[in-house]
Amino acid sequence: MRLAIASGLLFAANARAELPDGYWSQEQSQPILDTTLRVTLDPDLAYLTDAERNAVAELVAAGKVVNELYELQLHGQSAAAKQALLELHESTNRSPATGNLLDLWHLSRGPIVTTLDNTRQAFVPVAAERPGRNFYPTDLTREEFDGYLDQNPEEADELLDLRNIVRRASKENLSADLMRLDDFPAVDALHPGFREGLESLEADQNRLYAVPYALAYAPELRKARLHLIAAADHVRHETPDFAAYLRNRARDLLSGDYESGDASWVSGEFGGLNVAFGSYETYDDKLRGVKASYGVSVLARDDEASRALESAITGLQAIEDSLPYEHHKTVRTRIPVGVYNIIADFGQSRGGNTATILPNDADHTRKYGRTILLRYNIMMHPDIFDSRKKRFDAAVDACCRDHLTSEGGFNRTLWHEIGHYLGVSKTADGDDLGSALADYADLLEEMKSDLVSLYAAPALRAMEYHDDVALRAHYADGIRRTLQIAQPRPEQPYQNMQLMQFNFYLERGLIVPDADSGLLRVDYDRYHEVVTELLQQVLQLQYEGDYDLAQRFVERWNYWEQELHGKLAERILATNATRYTLVRFEALTE
Ligand SMILES: [Zn+2]
Repeated sequence: MRLAIASGLLFAANARAELPDGYWSQEQSQPILDTTLRVTLDPDLAYLTDAERNAVAELVAAGKVVNELYELQLHGQSAAAKQALLELHESTNRSPATGNLLDLWHLSRGPIVTTLDNTRQAFVPVAAERPGRNFYPTDLTREEFDGYLDQNPEEADELLDLRNIVRRASKENLSADLMRLDDFPAVDALHPGFREGLESLEADQNRLYAVPYALAYAPELRKARLHLIAAADHVRHETPDFAAYLRNRARDLLSGDYESGDASWVSGEFGGLNVAFGSYETYDDKLRGVKASYGVSVLARDDEASRALESAITGLQAIEDSLPYEHHKTVRTRIPVGVYNIIADFGQSRGGNTATILPNDADHTRKYGRTILLRYNIMMHPDIFDSRKKRFDAAVDACCRDHLTSEGGFNRTLWHEIGHYLGVSKTADGDDLGSALADYADLLEEMKSDLVSLYAAPALRAMEYHDDVALRAHYADGIRRTLQIAQPRPEQPYQNMQLMQFNFYLERGLIVPDADSGLLRVDYDRYHEVVTELLQQVLQLQYEGDYDLAQRFVERWNYWEQELHGKLAERILATNATRYTLVRFEALTE
């Protein structure tokens, strides 16, 4: 007790300490943290076996390595900046000002924070954020990159690969990569032709070349790999499927080819654990939308809930066949879906993410399926629901407020993830949606999944998966999802597609602002028709795979009017509902 009081005094004495240039003052950081909900996840792990517990320790250790790697992917100065911030924190006797900056770092997963007015700013002295993050040369613009790809189409596959970074062919870069190949012979062996390609390149600043993540991040990946193999050793007798997956994934990190890990992941029998591990999601690449970021989720499986849910998900082919488009595909009858409690998240996976479906690769998906990981202890967290409910209540009329429930959110999210399974997966020309639709691909895919979830709701009622209350809660959460507290930036696919849905629903009379109060009423009778119309348009755009058409569609529906959207946002913000969620994990001593 005395110690706590003494350190409290010390904090107070240092509260006004001036920080060096470039570091945000406490006055700058505090308003963001005041509107941050702090959540600590501490799932019950008593049912895990000793072997599983030992495996968790190794997976957490691997996650920590990946977390630093992720920060490096986002910003080239992250490691040095983090070290400097930690030292500053110590040298100011752990002042509140530097403590805040460490919280901002954790919240933002790096030195750049999203401010209250939805801009991106550095809060420690580092270079400003770039659209290409640290995936591309620092001075490469979209114009130069697109021009280069036009001139050198034969290099496009390599330069756009989701697990290659792009460098300029300077003498220093080429010789550093060749030296690193010498240091990592396994990487060399698993990338046939890469060394020869490097050796044949003339140094030329205007020339670009692709470097596999396996080589660019070889030292970090080696550490992570050893922990994965150690985790596999712990569980090899109890859950051989899980051990095999971990070994495959460790090898994938060397090859950059995730097929073996993906294949052994999706439908393996893993006992009490699961882990999503690797570089999959491309949201962070704001230059071209193709480079994947590293993330790790260490998860404890709720076996009973998972089995119950899996058997409740039936009739998927009928839903697929009913979707408003013509080129229906055959859907797997069994979709691996699990209910999990998060033990710890790292890198790209960290944050308020409620559910995941992986892998993304269209060919792996076709051959092996995908696994849906429902992150139960964040989806159903009471404090997070309270914050959502506050926002919803501020925007909608009293008629509809009670319709929102956390179960509705769970179901809407579950069927969003299943929505990724359904609908268009290749364009009419057989191209991947990602390469055809570029920076609109994520936006359209997420919008499709949101809409499939809502589209399926009446069918779920008909097959008695839902009762009337659950159907309405599913629907109410679909409206909640579209409410925005700030005008989205162009590079925010989720927020933009939500705003587009909002505008479509408004124009089509699914949501109707009250003439006096401006509060929104939901016309549930219009719901299915309106959702069907929008879903039809999105499926058509994905099937055609025409970038210009997609752009026109986005421009048509993505608008923000101060009178309407701005006022609604002000109303929501006036409730002081929290805007950020800082998630910590009991499994990490941070
Ligand atoms: Zn999604």
